[in-house]
Amino acid sequence: MYDFAKKQKEQKTALQKIRAGRIATKVRILAARDSCPLCKSFEGAYEFDDVPELPHEGCSHPDGCRCFYAPVLDRFGP
Ligand SMILES: [Zn+2]
Repeated sequence: MYDFAKKQKEQKTALQKIRAGRIATKVRILAARDSCPLCKSFEGAYEFDDVPELPHEGCSHPDGCRCFYAPVLDRFGP
């Protein structure tokens, strides 16, 4: 069964890890391939201070929100 509180805790930890790693310049939200339109609409790269909380409360998929954070690594340039 989908455990919102557990998922929320996991996502928070994941975000903190990405932030603490100091190699990511931004954080990206990735949605599952079959996720609901709401989740899809949140897909993209965000500044750490602007990133929405996961999981999405308004997600309408029967399995719940399965979005996750991924680091954006800006390794281009000198
Ligand atoms: Zn979602």
